[in-house]
Amino acid sequence: NESVLKVENLKTYFYLEKEKVAKAVDGVSFHVSPGETVAIVGESGSGKSITALSIMQLINKPGEIIEGTVKLHNDEIQNLTSKQMTKIRGNDIGMIFQEPMTSLNPVYTIGNQIIEMLRKHKKVNKQEAKVKAIHLLKLVGIPRAEQVIDEYPHQLSGGMRQRVMIAMAISCDPKLLIADEPTTALDVTIQAQILDLLQEMKEKFHMGVLLITHDIGVVSEYADRIIVMYGGQIVEEGTVSEILHDTKHPYTRGLLESLPDINEDIDRLGTIQGSVPPAYDFPIGCRFSTRCPYVMEECIQAIPKLTKVNNQAVRCYLYQEEVVKK
Ligand code: SF4
Ligand code: MG
Repeated sequence: NESVLKVENLKTYFYLEKEKVAKAVDGVSFHVSPGETVAIVGESGSGKSITALSIMQLINKPGEIIEGTVKLHNDEIQNLTSKQMTKIRGNDIGMIFQEPMTSLNPVYTIGNQIIEMLRKHKKVNKQEAKVKAIHLLKLVGIPRAEQVIDEYPHQLSGGMRQRVMIAMAISCDPKLLIADEPTTALDVTIQAQILDLLQEMKEKFHMGVLLITHDIGVVSEYADRIIVMYGGQIVEEGTVSEILHDTKHPYTRGLLESLPDINEDIDRLGTIQGSVPPAYDFPIGCRFSTRCPYVMEECIQAIPKLTKVNNQAVRCYLYQEEVVKK
């Protein structure tokens, strides 16, 4: 099964003042298959959003992608010019962000924005684009689509605006959809509706979806695989069922612990103490060592490697030993 997205050894650093280097993304590799939803989960500061922005080549100074490859199907895109990337964003990669008010232009009607998007990427005239825009609005469940097309973003509710964003994101039939906290600004019932819609669109168009979220509860229902990030690195990766029911990394356990009743079998650790260290000041060893209840001598000396344990991958000395002993 060919990947729609393949990221290999991605490193995005920010060169701050006083020779400080923030290793926001530090050697991240993963892939997304067509029709698959991969969720990247972590607290704020884990590097998940910077990973998404790096894939789309939206990193600005003092940030820089210093290493790694990003492949869309078989094409490497990390060295494209900004003009070439503009063609890919919106066309091959659809994007949905947290607050649609900031991504939708308040001075243009909904219709104008979708039509502009279609005309930028597809050879369609205005009339054809308008017909397609109405069709898209209906597809994402917007009632009165023929009227909404002439309305402005502020006239819609948050949930409806996010539906418009989804309509725009899928308007050019992207192979990959990147959704960064797509429902965080919405209330719980609307959240579920938007995630259901994303799921439906993914299946209908057989897209790969990269879902970025701080909420591991959200992904359990919608993702196929989960990648847990901490300190700019992947600390655990597996299927939803593996991550939820055979949780390995102490950080993942901590994230799950903060959810009520998601997993009855998990050892209770209590909430994770402390906060993510800043990316310019990571510990030398395991980046979770400053907060980990299991910290051992070796943890503070060198970063553990991401190691295969059955089908999962985990970056923790508790599991590296297990592997070595076998
Ligand atoms: Fe905790 Fe050590 Fe594992 Fe890091 S390597 S998560 S400090 S046990
Ligand atoms: Mg973020």
